Formats: sequence, structure tokens, C-alpha cells
Amino acid sequence: MNSPLSPQKPIADLPTHEVINMPPHMGDQDLFATDLALREGLDREGAGWAKDHVAAFGKLAGREQTLDWANQANRYGPEIQAFDRHGMRINQVSFHPGYHDLMDLAIVNDLPTFAWNNPRQGNHVAHGALSYLLNQIEGGVLCPTAMTYSVVPTLRATPKVADQWLPKLLTRQYDRRDIPAPAKTGITMGMFMTEKQGGSDVRANTTRAVAAGPETGPGAPYILDGHKFFCSAPMCDAFLTLAYTDNGLSCFLIPRWRPDGERNGLFLQRLKDKLGNRSNASGEMELVAAWAVMVGEEGRGVRTIIEMVNGNRYYCAFGSAALMRQGLVQALHHTSHRSAFQKKLLQQPLMRNVLADLAIESEAATVLWMRLGRAIGQSDTDPAEAALARIGTGIGKYWICKRAPYHVYEAMECHGGPGYVEESIMPRLYREAPVNSIWEGSGNIMCLDVLRAMYKSEAAAPAFMAEIEQARGDNPLFDRLTDELNAELSDPADLELRARRVAGMMAVALQASLLIRHAPNAVSDAFCRSRLGERWSGAFGVLPKDTDFETIIRRARGIE
Ligand SMILES: Cc1cc2nc3c(=O)[nH]c(=O)nc-3n(C[C@H](O)[C@H](O)[C@H](O)COP(=O)(O)OP(=O)(O)OC[C@H]3O[C@@H](n4cnc5c(N)ncnc54)[C@H](O)[C@@H]3O)c2cc1C
Repeated sequence: MNSPLSPQKPIADLPTHEVINMPPHMGDQDLFATDLALREGLDREGAGWAKDHVAAFGKLAGREQTLDWANQANRYGPEIQAFDRHGMRINQVSFHPGYHDLMDLAIVNDLPTFAWNNPRQGNHVAHGALSYLLNQIEGGVLCPTAMTYSVVPTLRATPKVADQWLPKLLTRQYDRRDIPAPAKTGITMGMFMTEKQGGSDVRANTTRAVAAGPETGPGAPYILDGHKFFCSAPMCDAFLTLAYTDNGLSCFLIPRWRPDGERNGLFLQRLKDKLGNRSNASGEMELVAAWAVMVGEEGRGVRTIIEMVNGNRYYCAFGSAALMRQGLVQALHHTSHRSAFQKKLLQQPLMRNVLADLAIESEAATVLWMRLGRAIGQSDTDPAEAALARIGTGIGKYWICKRAPYHVYEAMECHGGPGYVEESIMPRLYREAPVNSIWEGSGNIMCLDVLRAMYKSEAAAPAFMAEIEQARGDNPLFDRLTDELNAELSDPADLELRARRVAGMMAVALQASLLIRHAPNAVSDAFCRSRLGERWSGAFGVLPKDTDFETIIRRARGIE
């Protein structure tokens, strides 16, 4: 049965007028087949072997049914159920069934765990592709799936904990029941770091941990007291968190249920009323004598949890690229059916400029996150790739997430008024867009992280420059930017003050280098002549007049 939000076929014209010049419903989208940049990237970055799975998932994610679940799950958002009807504290959240359907779709298709269940070259690229496809339709479930993906390397650092928690995490089964993890068929995991007095600066945390018994150190049980101000996906089965012992800030795993089968001391205070990401619950949590187990070395909490944070940052990068891609797809659909001033909007010169500009930005975001995925996947075996992944994660997260809100807004404006109305997906994409820049290290923090990567690892800047230099000689604007970047990086004065400028230049240089090497000339040429030219303001629709608009727009529409 159609839900109230499902597109309905008109049964008749209205009494006063015939409805004309309105775009048809899009219906099911084949998100993979029409995304040439994604398809090419999968082969190029070593994930061609996963193409069948990714392609099949692109069809599932793009179904009207999936969109309908997402619409419902966002419109009828999560509600806190702190107590049961007998007044017993249960700290639960109830969700619309559409949310559970989306979680099931994601987990059954291996979305949070694909990389770990397929340990081979290109696995993190394919993993990113799956999430990128679903995030075009729904961002809320990407939060718990991101954390479930990202937690794995951190858990592996403490085998005693990993042996207990990883098998259930990797099962590809979504079990929504709030019962102890050992009794479940599959589990998910979250992360609580942020406290009221400190989010970016987690060393300001005040949550305390004391050993529960004589045993201390990795794998030992502790009791935690304190609070966490942002706790997304609080119905996950366990969470990594930070708390101080006498020996410094340390990382802990807190399960929802204690090993003795009792509810743990996690008290959900309230859910945040958020701008976007509304299908996902984000709460505030008191930790009252909460049972936890230490993960990683005592006093090395930030170092331990940072691997999880970095995984989430990769998610933010491709998550924002996904919002751009879907906004572009919607804008192309609308403008190819809607006419104004005797022409399809898609044929109006200025609209073509806007659409082509949105298209090259979307492709630039995609080539960047896909290259990053390869670097992440090869980090264990190739030091240069590890260095590139380290510095590239900050660059990609900063830049792609910064560009997304403006990109989505312009795609919305291509629709005129209907783009602003809730039956369209555009308002939801727009509300979703800023969060990826804020969480997991806000813009400034990411730029400072890029500098930190360079300070801490002598290999980081050379690995980055070696990557971009591969395109030298093909485009004078790119060569000039590379020289300028070299000069910026070798000048240590006021580097912190210039961190956004430097990180932005690095992002654009990396995107340009990748496009020059891998995209059609029309795309790379337009990118370089706009983004690397003298007067680029960041606005969309300002490509030079001799840009090959036709090729760029056809490519964005998936026409080979
Ligand atoms: C919807 C949502 C869900 C979230 N879910 C979770 C979750 O599940 N778990 C979790 O742990 N956290 C979560 N967060 C919290 C999020 O990670 C933090 O809000 C974020 O890290 C910023 O921390 P803060 O809010 O304390 O801001 P602050 O740290 O106070 O930062 C405020 C601003 O100052 C800037 N800034 C900070 N330091 C510097 C500096 N040295 N130089 C220049 N600028 C600086 C920051 O970039 C930012 O723009 C969530 C946030 C949101 C919005």
C-alpha cells in the first residue's frame, strides 16, 4: 500500500486547468548505472571485483520503496522511551518502522562491514561505494553504520575485547532487540566522546573511570561516572567512550547491558531536536556507575579512539559527496523536463553553466574520496599510502563537507519553488548537508589536523605532493597551483592562521590532479579553468564560456 508520502499518479486534471510542464516522478533510480564517475572509480581504485554487489545495491538503494522508508523515518522521527509503563528505567528509543527497514537493508547488504568481510585490495573503496549509494537517499542510518564500520580497527587493538565483540558485529544480520549482545544475531556500535565542556577538545572531558576489581589495563573492567553531551544512535549495543583514570584519558567499551544480564548505568536524558539527520536519534547520556571494559593502553585514549574517528571522517567525505550527487541527479531530472521561456531549462545557457558546474564539483568529490579509500585500504602494507590516507582524510573531510551545503542548495534552486517543498527530497538533502562538516572534527579542526599530520609524519607532505605531481605537465594552471602549494607548505610562518587556505588548496590540487589523470578532458579542463583560475569565488555557474557543457552534462546524466 502506498504511504501518504508516496508519489501518486494523477488520476485526472484539475477542474480549472490541465497540469502541464511538470516533471514526471522519477520512480526507481538505478544509482550505480547512471553514475559514471563512481563506476570508473571502482575499477580504477582496485574494487572492480565488487562491481556486481555494488551495482545490485545501487538498484535497491534507489528504489521508491527505499525513498519512502527514508521519508517516513525522517518525518516520524525517533522518540525517547526513558521508562516503561511500570516506571522502570529502560533508556530506549522507538523508531518508525521505516528506520528499521533501512537499517535492515544496510546491514543485510554488508554496508557497515563489507571492507572487513572482504579483506582484499579495494575493499574500502567498495565499502565507501555502498554507503555513498545509500546516503543519497537517507543519511540517518549512515551514522550507526559508519560507527560500526569504524570501530573495528580500534577493537582489534585489544584482542580480548575484539574476540568477544567482533563476531557479532560482522554477521550481516540486523537484530533490533534491546537485549544483551550475546543473545543477539547481530550488533551495532556507537561512540560517545563529546561532553558539554569539550567536544573538539576531548581532553577537557570530566568522566571518571575506576577499576572494578584488582585487574587494570586493556581488557579489564572499570566503572564510569560522568556525562556525554552528544550520543548518536543510542540503541547501538555498545559504545566506545573516553574517561579519565588516574593515569590519563583512556578508551572504554560500554555495553548497553552488563555481563550479569542487568541494564548498564546508561541514562538517556533527552533526544536532540536537530536541524537534519532526523531519522537518527542523538541523545544526551548520564553514565552512572556504568560498567565498561578498557580498550587500548591506559592513558592513551585519544590515540586508541582516533582510528575510529578517522573511519568516521572517511564516511563524512563520501557521505557529503553522496548528497551532492543526488542533488545533481534531481536537478538534472527537473531541468530536463521543465521548460521556461520556450526552452527546456536544461537547454538554457545559464542553467547549463550551473548544472555543469555542479557536475564537475560532484565528480571532483567522488574521485577524491575514492582515491582516499584506496589509500586507507593499502595503509597496512604501503607506508606511502598510509601517509596519504593520514593527511588525505583531513583534506577530504574538510573540503567535500564544506562544499556540500552550497552545492545542495544550488541543486535545490534549479528546481525553483518545488525544490523547497517537502515532497521533494531536496529539503532533506539540504538539512543533512551541514552535519558532516560539524561532527567528527569541525572544519577548523580538520584543517589543523592536516597540519598535525605534516608535523607528526615526515612522510605525509611528500606522499601528498608525490600523488598530485603525477599530473604535472598537462595543465599550466595546475602546475602553477602546485608550485604555489609548495611555497605555502615550505613557509612555516602563521601556518595555523593559514590552515584553511592551505587545506583548501591541497584539496583542490588533489581533485585537479585526479581529474586530469582520470576524467574526460571536458571535466578536468572546466575544473582547472574555474577552480584554479584567477577569479574563482566558489560560486556555481561561472564556468568559462568555451567549456564543453554538452559533454559534462551528458556524463552527469550517465550517458556514455
Ligand atoms: C547531530 C550530531 C550528532 C553528534 N553525535 C555525536 C556522537 O555520537 N558522539 C560524539 O562523541 N559526538 C557527537 N557529536 C558531537 C560533535 O562531534 C561535536 O559537536 C564536534 O566535534 C564539535 O565539538 P563541540 O560541539 O564541543 O564544539 P567546540 O569544540 O566548542 O567547537 C566549536 C567551534 O570551534 C572550532 N574550534 C575548536 N577548536 C579550535 C581551534 N583550536 N582553533 C580554531 N577553531 C577551533 C570548531 O571547529 C568549531 O567550529 C554530534 C554532533 C551533532 C551535531
